[in-house]
Amino acid sequence: MLNTSIRENLTRPEQKSEFDVDVQKSHVVSLFALVGMSISGAMAAVAIFNNNTLLASTLFLASFVFSSGYFIQKKFNNLVVSSAITLYSLYVLMFYLVFSGGVENTGPLWVFIVAPVTVFIHGLKRGLIDIALFVIIISAIMFNPSGLPGHATYQTEFKLRLIYAFLTVTFLSALYEYLRGKAYQKMLEIGEMYQQLAHLDPLTQLPNRRFSRNILEQEKVRFERNKEPFAIILCDVDHFKKINDQYGHNVGDHVLVELAKSFASQLRKQDCISRWGGEEFLFVLPQTTAKNANIIAEKIRLNIQQKTMTYDEKSIAVTISMGIAQFTQELTLDEMINQADKRLYEAKSAGRNKVC
Ligand code: GH3
Ligand code: MG
Ligand code: MG
Repeated sequence: MLNTSIRENLTRPEQKSEFDVDVQKSHVVSLFALVGMSISGAMAAVAIFNNNTLLASTLFLASFVFSSGYFIQKKFNNLVVSSAITLYSLYVLMFYLVFSGGVENTGPLWVFIVAPVTVFIHGLKRGLIDIALFVIIISAIMFNPSGLPGHATYQTEFKLRLIYAFLTVTFLSALYEYLRGKAYQKMLEIGEMYQQLAHLDPLTQLPNRRFSRNILEQEKVRFERNKEPFAIILCDVDHFKKINDQYGHNVGDHVLVELAKSFASQLRKQDCISRWGGEEFLFVLPQTTAKNANIIAEKIRLNIQQKTMTYDEKSIAVTISMGIAQFTQELTLDEMINQADKRLYEAKSAGRNKVC
């Protein structure tokens, strides 16, 4: 029954939270760049100590590149560039370690960090493509001796085991990333559901008072920006207590649900219909003057008057009274609502089943 625009509005995106995937990624990329910078810096110091100048220079360079990835993320908050710098400089460092063997041919052991870092930073699909290219390149380096000075040689069994183990870690990382993505999606859905529930009246499935207050605030902002008029209609069921007393509370509930459906079917997509209180409804009509709101209200009033509601083969006559107010510069939202309430009271005093 609830029209789509209302449903969409019920779950308007809130400000970026800590749970936002980009916010999480930016933390991880910064942290990873920082850790990469520290570890490669420390290893460079050890390499100097071991008189391995080439390894030391490469590691210092890597440390510098990681720090620039960290700087770009912190200063410009550019996740695409900082994650590309961090990830691909890690790859280049790994290629160098596999090529040179690092310290006593232990360099290739570091390749295992590539799989989890890649799928986290680039996601499952792009991550797996990156990893496939990475495997091809390190295999080419290990299995094709280039004849260049400093190219390490490994035993065949070591090379094969390294690739098998790397593929296993990739599989586990991909599985973990897949499950993490699913869990994150589920969390978003649950969050959205609770947000909807917090703004929804359970009986009529219309937005509740809290939600329509948000809409009023939005319309006020729009009025201040574009001077677009907007009006409200406060609607109250006549002698509703009698309906409850005569037919029972269930019938009263049924009448409220039927009224909500009827209002929703008669108003425009951009209008917001909410359950304001017990048997009161509030319509917020954007881009509408009081005069036009009066025409709409009359149409709705007449429609309800002519409608016969039935429940358990009993037919129930229902009428409504309505008070209208248009927002102006001089009014606050509360004053506007009070005006509509006053006019509703006038409609009641004038004999009910009226629009004021
Ligand atoms: P008036 O024409 O002056 O508006 O008379 P009224 O009887 O409609 O007004 P009153 O405020 O005296 O009574 C409203 C009644 O609405 C009282 C309350 O029990 C009933 N009510 C409020 N919420 C609900 C609800 O969710 N379901 C049902 N069935 N009744 C409700
Ligand atoms: Mg009332
Ligand atoms: Mg009433």
